[in-house]
Amino acid sequence: MEESSANSPVDEPSRQGLSFDLDVDICVIGGGLAGLTVALESARRGASVVVLDGRSIGWNASSHNLGTVMPGYGVAVSDLIERVGFEDARELWNLAQEGAEYVRATAAPMPGITLTEGALEVSKVDTGDELISRLQTLGEDFGATIEGWQTDRVREVLKTDRYFHAIHFPKAFQIDARTYVRGLAALAESAGVRIFEDTPVVGIDPAGIRKRLFTPSAKLRSTHVVLAGNAHLGAPSHRLTATLLPTWRYAALTEPLGDRLAEVIAFQGSVMDTHGIDHFRVVQGDRLLWCSPETTWQGDPRRYAKRIQNRIAAIFPKLGPVTVAESWSGMFGQTVHGMPQIGEVQPGLWVLSGFGRQGLNTTAMGGQLLARSIFAGDDRWRLFSPFELVWAGGAAGRVAGQAMDIWSRGHSAAAGALSRFRERARDRELAREYAREARIASAKAQASIARQHASAAMHDDRRGPGA
Ligand SMILES: Cc1cc2nc3c(=O)[nH]c(=O)nc-3n(C[C@H](O)[C@H](O)[C@H](O)COP(=O)(O)OP(=O)(O)OC[C@H]3O[C@@H](n4cnc5c(N)ncnc54)[C@H](O)[C@@H]3O)c2cc1C
Repeated sequence: MEESSANSPVDEPSRQGLSFDLDVDICVIGGGLAGLTVALESARRGASVVVLDGRSIGWNASSHNLGTVMPGYGVAVSDLIERVGFEDARELWNLAQEGAEYVRATAAPMPGITLTEGALEVSKVDTGDELISRLQTLGEDFGATIEGWQTDRVREVLKTDRYFHAIHFPKAFQIDARTYVRGLAALAESAGVRIFEDTPVVGIDPAGIRKRLFTPSAKLRSTHVVLAGNAHLGAPSHRLTATLLPTWRYAALTEPLGDRLAEVIAFQGSVMDTHGIDHFRVVQGDRLLWCSPETTWQGDPRRYAKRIQNRIAAIFPKLGPVTVAESWSGMFGQTVHGMPQIGEVQPGLWVLSGFGRQGLNTTAMGGQLLARSIFAGDDRWRLFSPFELVWAGGAAGRVAGQAMDIWSRGHSAAAGALSRFRERARDRELAREYAREARIASAKAQASIARQHASAAMHDDRRGPGA
């Protein structure tokens, strides 16, 4: 089936709000990918579970993402090793890999889901050494299924001089995000989870064994509370919300581009650059789904559609004019250290947020991990404890965050330009080398012809006139 357009009609609540008091084992605040997964996995273990969402299921980032399911986290694996050491980094990586496998197994049988395979992480700079070192760590040390692609191979499938070598993740895949969220909610409900939309949680009293929660029209009591509200959480824990830098990411879907798209982009999986700036894939045969700018305030997606058009033109000039059919944004919470917040902050009060721009596999991993922790005493969530809840800086943090983003984009653009310059210089040098060799070869050939003529003339002289 063709993917749904990520931004088709704004999600309206389709389930009722909570209007009566409830007593449950687990109350999950937030019906995005994270909240729905922990709810489903807890209900499968026999718990009575309720999910409360202030708006509707997956109305924000969880339905409006690009649907690329990758292994790992949004932080470089070298940073992870530096922070927690090799063994724990490998275990964290394995958990994230399990998260991706969970999404595959859960999504594949869902009605309306078609998986497309493979993702390519392309480098904007010509630094082969880095590629080799990452291939070594991910492939040999962490056991990830990956391939290194040289620049020529990348440019066979992506007709641009902006990209150099790449890491191919053949086991990464794509799904339609909105269909997945809805499928997850349906699975959770059939496992016994009660979901209430249009039900903001406005307060919590987390003291005691039975925690109390308050919504505008009802009160709840619950043994466990999971805070899965992302950077939208607000009143239930302003302190937790303050540890996330809200970041809006903008995306656009082009009008159909016809056969010219396949001539320029022949790779059918997702493509993202190593600097985390552009992320795109082909959908519905001949349309481009493209995600690029980020802001730490909520901007008008129509304004950013033009920026996305310009990025497409800059990276794929051979594509010619491209018209954007739809544009939208989604907000995710970014932690200071870049890793998700997963764990128990006080007995019975759990946090599951901060999944950043790589949330599909990590929310699945976090949701499963918390359910296993609550019901089976799995304490591997402690692997996340070196990544503490750190204040993200409030309004000042947003300005700093934006400055960092502009800096990294500028830095990446400069690094890319430098690599392309080096490549052109190398081409020019090679051309000069060829020309020099051709001149030497031609001079040698001429000298040899001249020698042959001279020797023939000497021969003739020796034989004398009339010979
Ligand atoms: C444009 C874009 C593209 C992306 N592309 C990808 C991609 O290709 N691959 C990938 O892995 N990740 C991607 N991501 C990231 C991914 O979408 C997110 O990390 C993930 O959806 C976060 O899920 P979540 O459940 O934590 O949060 P959310 O989806 O934000 O859900 C939180 C929910 O909690 C509810 N809530 C909050 N507070 C309360 C409260 N007090 N009471 C009741 N309800 C509350 C909200 O209403 C909301 O529905 C992308 C993100 C964006 C924005």
